[in-house]
Parts: sequence; C-alpha cells; structure tokens
Amino acid sequence: MTDYSKCTITRYPTPVLMKAAEPIKEVNDDIRVLAERMIEIMVETQGVGLAGPQAGVNLRIFVASPEGTRQGAKVYINPSIRVEGPIVTHEEGCLSLPGIWGKIKRYYKCTVTATDLDGKEFTEVGEGLPARIFQHEFDHLEGRMIKDRLSMAGKLRSRGRLQELEDEYKDNATS
Ligand SMILES: [Zn+2]
Repeated sequence: MTDYSKCTITRYPTPVLMKAAEPIKEVNDDIRVLAERMIEIMVETQGVGLAGPQAGVNLRIFVASPEGTRQGAKVYINPSIRVEGPIVTHEEGCLSLPGIWGKIKRYYKCTVTATDLDGKEFTEVGEGLPARIFQHEFDHLEGRMIKDRLSMAGKLRSRGRLQELEDEYKDNATS
C-alpha cells in the first residue's frame, strides 16, 4: 500500500511524467487521500491544475482549480475529453517544468467526462482557461508535456533550461 499523503511534486525528467498513466480501478480511501494531497500540492505551488504523474503517481487522475483556490478545486478520475475548435494560442507553464514558458495551441472548448470521489460519473464543459487546463492535465495522463507542444522556436529557446533540469535530476539521483 502506498501512503499517498506523502506525495511530492515531480519534475522533468522523472520517468513517470513521460509515460501513459493507468486507469483507476476503484475509487477508495487511498484515492481520496491522493486527491486531497494533489489539491494541497496544487494550491501550495500556486498552480491551477495537477495530474497524477506530477505527484509521482502513475494513475489517471487530475485536479483543477481555474481560480487557484482550494474551494474551487475539483477532482477528475479516469477522464476522457472531447475538444472543439477554434484553436487558440496562449502562454502556458507547467509545475513540472519550472522556468519553461511558451505559447501553446489548444482548443477553446473542451468537454470532460470523469468519475468523482463518490465514484459517480459527471460531464463538464469548459471554455477558455478551464478548457486549457483540462487539455494540459489530460496530456500529462498520456505522458505529454508542454515541452512537446512548443513551436520550433520555443523548443530551441527551452533547450538550455531542459538541460539544467536534466542535470539537477541526475545530481539528485546520485547524491
Ligand atoms: Zn503540467
């Protein structure tokens, strides 16, 4: 059994961030502890969303709060998304890629169907920022990050910072 209350934020290039996450089979107390911890991390780090792999957990769950508040936080378990145009470009960052920002193309509208902490399915339609968060967090569950969606110029610009993060990761692993 894993004690999810001790989860901490993972940064690139932690391997769990780069692979597809596994479906959650049962919404139980372990999952509720995990969701609570993920909301805590998101609020502490002043994010508006956090996905399981970012808490070091290879499970299909994300939390989101467009206002960045605990009260506004919602939990999405085993989400699926449906996107609708138009495509909008906006500056985006990621808690697992500190120091990296770039213009990312996303669909303006996104419908997410997910399971809540009571095990009930629900559907929510997001437009603008919420839609952007849903697509960003869903990407994490597929092992994709904003570094993969940057323009060619953005990729070149972020190369040095990615290298720094890789070096920090290696240093932590060996010390
Ligand atoms: Zn992210």
